[in-house]
Amino acid sequence: MGLLQAGLTGITMATSKTHKNIKILIVDDFDTTRKIIRNMLRDEGYENTVEARDGKLALQVLRKEKVELIISDWAMPNMDGLTFLKTVRSTPEFQNIPFIMVTAEAEKDNIINAIKAKVTQYIIKPFTAENLYDKVRISMGQ
Ligand SMILES: [Mg+2]
Repeated sequence: MGLLQAGLTGITMATSKTHKNIKILIVDDFDTTRKIIRNMLRDEGYENTVEARDGKLALQVLRKEKVELIISDWAMPNMDGLTFLKTVRSTPEFQNIPFIMVTAEAEKDNIINAIKAKVTQYIIKPFTAENLYDKVRISMGQ
């Protein structure tokens, strides 16, 4: 009973929020890739985005902005996506933020490590805008 109520409350909260206003953090070491993701999101009405070029800088953004969804590349200098994910999941104020990992075809085997580190969803490059929107919607419980 308690569990059912908690579940229903969660569903209500997720659907009543105008989810396209969510603040999305895009993390990728390539300017072009961040731009592609940003433009794809914008085309679908997700205009509230912030960006970082590696995991370390992304953590700084998380401390300043109220980020509600993270979309992160795997391979990056300074702090890679997996280390960033693990840091997010072990930091109380960030641990519940939905996290989508973007990984290249060649790094596909690493997905198991991302799942172990509690990634919310993952996307394999190259991906379409529709792939991205699906993952965003699922991650936000839509
Ligand atoms: Mg990269």
